[in-house]
Amino acid sequence: MTQDTTPIVVEEVDYVYDSGLSKHHVLRDVSLRIESGEIVILTGPSGSGKTTLITLMGALRAMQSGSIKIFGNELHKASQRALMKTRRNIGFIFQQHNLLDYLTVAQNISMSLSLGQGGGGKKARTRIEEVLDQVGLIEHIDKYPDALSGGQKQRVGIARALSNGPKMILADEPTASLDKESGRNVVNLIQELCREQGASVVMVTHDNRILDVADRILHLEDGEIQSISSAVASSTSQMLKLLNRHDPDAAHYMSAFSQALTRVALADGNLDDQERGAINTILVEHSDLQPAEVDLVMEMALSQVRCRSPRGAAGEAAFSHEQSVHFIKSLHAVAAADGEVSDMELQEIAQIAGELGFTLSDAEMKELG
Ligand code: ADP
Ligand code: MG
Repeated sequence: MTQDTTPIVVEEVDYVYDSGLSKHHVLRDVSLRIESGEIVILTGPSGSGKTTLITLMGALRAMQSGSIKIFGNELHKASQRALMKTRRNIGFIFQQHNLLDYLTVAQNISMSLSLGQGGGGKKARTRIEEVLDQVGLIEHIDKYPDALSGGQKQRVGIARALSNGPKMILADEPTASLDKESGRNVVNLIQELCREQGASVVMVTHDNRILDVADRILHLEDGEIQSISSAVASSTSQMLKLLNRHDPDAAHYMSAFSQALTRVALADGNLDDQERGAINTILVEHSDLQPAEVDLVMEMALSQVRCRSPRGAAGEAAFSHEQSVHFIKSLHAVAAADGEVSDMELQEIAQIAGELGFTLSDAEMKELG
């Protein structure tokens, strides 16, 4: 019989914290798979159950129901011995680097080495040198954690997680206590090293700036895995509402300004990183908005500008006839929502149809209206 060696298969997992006085249902019917070599980011608001889920997958917390298989080994109702064995095949990276202050960098790493391969002596030292070299910290091998910056400590954490050559890395908010640049470096390093070793990664974060390293993003909300588009839609609309409420003038100005900038940048048909960077810098300098808010405004402007020029480079129509009919019908439905379709609304619909390049004849337009 061949065993399924998919790194992670989670099926119908529920988890409840029961304090005796109250029950808190944290995970509901969660199912997911992580394939070999995949880098998956798990996002979701604080308290949504991310840590609970990742500690269940890491065999660090006893399961209550459902099934989790790690490289084919079932965790639910497994013996302590079996759970220990599973844990040894996983590299863990935590929010706090979890280094012991009274041990040197090398000694900290050897702690987890000895748990794994029973290392010690020369062979262990060689392996420690190897992983520290990979994270660019070889010259700090005999220092104590106190002598290192936050980013460096987290890199030691990565070296330690990789020291046993695990095929899977579980990381819980590895950048949460780092500044933007060190966070970025840490995440890039995790990505690069895991790709090299063919290891799968599940990384919990609510730092939107690092989502791009993921092959796939899973969003946890209200204890359930949701699609990324619903996550983006809900957080975008919430951010925009906030922006409007706190600073309507700025929101209006910014949306007009960013659209103008984006149109210029898009005029040659594509928007490269330099143009994107320039827009971002200008917007940050000319507003009281935070960089994250500027990112959002810019993305909105981009999608609006793209929408205005919906024809591809070859000049082909961007929308099918069926899509056009559906679009126009929906515009009419919105116009009619207040009871009556005014002339102004009809004009606006015609204008929009023209801008978006809908391929409907006048007769069809009349019929839909
Ligand atoms: P996240 O990592 O997404 O912030 P957690 O998995 O840590 O979420 O927690 C999910 C929910 O479960 C939170 O509302 C938290 O307060 C609750 N919780 C976490 N750990 C415990 C615990 N040991 N006892 C009771 N409730 C807990
Ligand atoms: Mg957490």
